[in-house]
Amino acid sequence: MTAARPRDDPKPARFPFSFEVYPPRNADLVASVHETIHQLAAAQPDFIAVTYGAGGSSRDQSLELVRYIAEHTTVPPMAHLTCVGSSAEEANRLVREFLDAGIRQFLAIRGDAPEGARDGEDYLGDLRSATELVQLIHRVQLEREPYTEVDEPQWGGTAVRLSQRREPVRIGVAAFPNGHPQSRNRAQDIDVLLAKQAQGANLAITQLFFDADDYVNFVTDARAAGVEFPITPGIMPVTSLARLKRIVELTDEPMPAELAGQLEEAFAQEKAARDAGGVPEITQYSVGVAHAVALGRAVLEGGAPGIHLYAFNQHRPVLDVLRGLGAIDE
Ligand code: FAD
Repeated sequence: MTAARPRDDPKPARFPFSFEVYPPRNADLVASVHETIHQLAAAQPDFIAVTYGAGGSSRDQSLELVRYIAEHTTVPPMAHLTCVGSSAEEANRLVREFLDAGIRQFLAIRGDAPEGARDGEDYLGDLRSATELVQLIHRVQLEREPYTEVDEPQWGGTAVRLSQRREPVRIGVAAFPNGHPQSRNRAQDIDVLLAKQAQGANLAITQLFFDADDYVNFVTDARAAGVEFPITPGIMPVTSLARLKRIVELTDEPMPAELAGQLEEAFAQEKAARDAGGVPEITQYSVGVAHAVALGRAVLEGGAPGIHLYAFNQHRPVLDVLRGLGAIDE
């Protein structure tokens, strides 16, 4: 899969990577999302994560896409679950439903207020934080599968013995290198991660960020405070100025001035080339991919255990980022 590279090539060797997609919002989009899944799966990621409830998608749409990945590719899906709107009983049933579908990788997040929610409206259910959801997933898995059956060879035949070992569940959680918008300070962000770790989370994926130092400094502080699980940087190739503005608005991240300037310049060049019937020297697409490649290289050099790519349901930009990093063939 990975091409051999000369020794002096600065590109890192193959590293673990994963993708994130969101479920199709209507039946017309199902086929194109499935095509994206197959293109992504061909790159052999560690997992493909499917968002839950984000942007108005429903539980059924998430579960269907997670099932599709499990049944039609060789890549394990990771199901996002949130605390939004469920009673304890419903949350319990939901987790069980995903576990019964064979899902063993989760991202436990609190979730944000649904679009249209009134200011101050309590949109959460009985579970109040991602930490409680981590605890619930482990509890439900323990209740539904307190033991596994293991064949034990015996004289005169094979007997079945009961073992206490359960199938492991991987539970990821969100981390915020530049602070969660509701956090008072860095210490609180790290305390929340420690609480998630104590409840059995074994991986964190970060909110997107635009400067490698933000990630590296956050991980340094988290390690000093006792966070031990891998903290995987979440990276998105931002291939248009319009998308950058939307992302900054949604995530509350500070506007990355340099990237914004480059995208603006490319936007102007594209317009001028269109008007003159020519070809622009740089495009917003090439700027976005080049920025994500440089960011990916810097975080890997800074010790990142891999990269999680926000695909925005498009395979080309994230695969181009991986090509730029030398993780998949040209
Ligand atoms: P929590 O860890 O519960 O905490 C959020 C903040 O609340 C903390 O930073 C802290 O400030 C405060 N807090 C938490 N616990 C306590 C406590 N005990 N005492 C005091 N303060 C506390 N949203 C979706 O709706 N669907 C998705 O699929 C989705 N996927 C995401 C994937 C990633 C990788 C990331 C980074 C985010 C995702 N989100 C998704 C967004 C996420 O739901 C929001 O960012 C949400 O506001 C916070 O979620 P959390 O899991 O970090 O919450």
